[in-house]
Amino acid sequence: MFMELTEAKKNLQKKGFLDMEVDVRLDLFAEIERLKKEKNAILLAHYYQEPDIQDVADYIGDSLGLSQQAAKTDADIIVFAGVHFMAETAKILSPQKKVLLPDLKAGCSLADSAPPDLFARFKAQYPDHLVISYINCSAGIKALSDIICTSSNAEKIIESVPKDQPIIFAPDRNLGSYLIKKTGRDMVLWNGACMVHEIFSLEKITKLKVRHPKAKIIAHPECEAPILAIADFVGSTTGLLKFTQRDDAKEYIVVTETGILHQMQKENPNKTFIPAPPNNACACNDCPHMKLNTLEKLYLCMEYEQPEITMDETLRIAAKRPIDRMLEISAQAGL
Ligand code: SF4
Repeated sequence: MFMELTEAKKNLQKKGFLDMEVDVRLDLFAEIERLKKEKNAILLAHYYQEPDIQDVADYIGDSLGLSQQAAKTDADIIVFAGVHFMAETAKILSPQKKVLLPDLKAGCSLADSAPPDLFARFKAQYPDHLVISYINCSAGIKALSDIICTSSNAEKIIESVPKDQPIIFAPDRNLGSYLIKKTGRDMVLWNGACMVHEIFSLEKITKLKVRHPKAKIIAHPECEAPILAIADFVGSTTGLLKFTQRDDAKEYIVVTETGILHQMQKENPNKTFIPAPPNNACACNDCPHMKLNTLEKLYLCMEYEQPEITMDETLRIAAKRPIDRMLEISAQAGL
């Protein structure tokens, strides 16, 4: 495909197409649909993407759903509207496909909190421990892990491990602490965290609850323990969405990234969803990494098939092994 690009397009790439202006008269929704068909591309979007991107995606989901979708698609190109470790996971599972990420700078504070070289030294201190890592980590951390998990399946994954087998859990200390409480397993935790889920204010949420006494508090397990302690329901992003569909409350205080409110509102038009406030005046409950992707960047990335995720094959094979293990355990448990 690269060889077929015109000289003009090659020059645009050299200049850095991310800085390109998109013609404002373009109907980006129609253009993206056209590119999907022309290039046999599938567009996967995480729940934390902006509503316009969610609305044009072929599949919207959280980490497990998106990685499973990436593994089974027969598209030639996977366009991943999410952050870097998610697109990496798609590449790990589909090495023969071209994987595109609209903005290569869309990283993740949680993944960045676990540099592989430091984690390898940490792991060496516990030679008899099994490493279970949350999927929100780099390929380098995945390659150092025995099993990957998501916030949806973590409990079952931990319970599948014999009780006398000691475990290291990485990289999220809040999710790890929550899982220690849920499973009763005394795991060694890596000290990482997500900047978005750590910013919520217990005091402001408590005051919000006073103003909305009938609202249920629903929270993601990446939040700190005092927030989880007052939640009516704790679950993965998909778990929170499903809870709002089956529960009979009319109002919810949602303690996770605000992007999920779009699907919650679409699925439950007669319910009210209130984003939980952060502990300062900024919009810090929006993930700044996720929100780097825009409809314009999505269009440009599909048009020019850049930026592409590439990976060393040895690393890819090592990182795939613990994901396969997760998918096997999930299938056995019917998850
Ligand atoms: S919300 Fe947190 S864990 Fe998710 S991508 Fe953003 S920084 Fe990473």
